[in-house]
Amino acid sequence: MLLQSLSEACGLSGNEAEVRNLILKEVQGLVDEHRIDSLGNLITLKRCSSTGAARPRRVMIAAHMDEVGLMVTHIEKSGHLRFSKVGGLDDRTLLSKVVLVGNDRVPGVIGAKPIHLLKEKERHQVVETDQMYIDIGTSSKEETERAVKRGDYVAFATRFSRLEGGLVKGKAFDDRAGCAALIELLRGRGSYPSDLYGVFTVQEEIGLRGARVAAYAVEPDYAFAFEGTVCDDLPKKKDLSPTTILGGGAAITLADRSFFADKRLVKLLVETAEKNGVPYQFKQPMVGATDAGRIHLAREGVPSVAVAVPCRYIHSPVNILSLSDFENLVRLMSLALVALPTLWPSP
Ligand SMILES: [Zn+2]
Repeated sequence: MLLQSLSEACGLSGNEAEVRNLILKEVQGLVDEHRIDSLGNLITLKRCSSTGAARPRRVMIAAHMDEVGLMVTHIEKSGHLRFSKVGGLDDRTLLSKVVLVGNDRVPGVIGAKPIHLLKEKERHQVVETDQMYIDIGTSSKEETERAVKRGDYVAFATRFSRLEGGLVKGKAFDDRAGCAALIELLRGRGSYPSDLYGVFTVQEEIGLRGARVAAYAVEPDYAFAFEGTVCDDLPKKKDLSPTTILGGGAAITLADRSFFADKRLVKLLVETAEKNGVPYQFKQPMVGATDAGRIHLAREGVPSVAVAVPCRYIHSPVNILSLSDFENLVRLMSLALVALPTLWPSP
């Protein structure tokens, strides 16, 4: 399964090559052109069906290849590794997790003091990353340095598997779910009414960096960001509505911390979904940020919207998503691309 291989590949921000190679292998036969820019974005082009227009409309769909994780910052005399976080991670989710260090995937464990030795006060405290270390089994700095070096990336060693109810668990669904959906879209029908730029971006998790230069280069007329987004549809103390609901369909962003979605594109998605009976939901506004936050500011501005697969336990070592939400995102978007010309100003 495509989502499985993408989820199990390692590609932290600034080190997306493994994921990119995997995607490249999948899309090469599906697109008319592809290139890798200087930051590492993979920009693909599937040409439109109509050949009449001098400059066909350009639609950019972005999905980011990078994932959150850790980076080795120091090696102790004892051989243990100190690390920093790459992207937004909650310290509480890290202790006792199995990780893979460096491109050779050296296995290690994020060490924790056993409960037997914790003082009463410590049991109620959050252990922060600067008090943690990674144990790869070595007992000296020299021994560690034969396997690992400073600056090595550290990914979670989470295997993908199926759960009950059409759900799956794995790591990095933010945003490998978006990457997989974009590949599915490129696999679909012959061509769309506009030039489709499928852009697999880098360094989203540390400030939407890849999308910024990719949008400048592509110069799109419309843009969509595919995401794996926050889903907190779990028991709560108060009766608060969740950000998104697992199984509720693709989640359309109205606004997040990085942009306000283009109202015409939101309307197009909603009308397309309703006309074709594709389940959808709105993501609770003002939560998170996406590549659309950079793309909509490219050049003279680009009408943009983000559509996402809800993911529980996002930005942690293991996430859960519903395959039906994933399929509904692909379905909704392939229909919306066909309906998009209704937005074009008449000549
Ligand atoms: Zn994301």
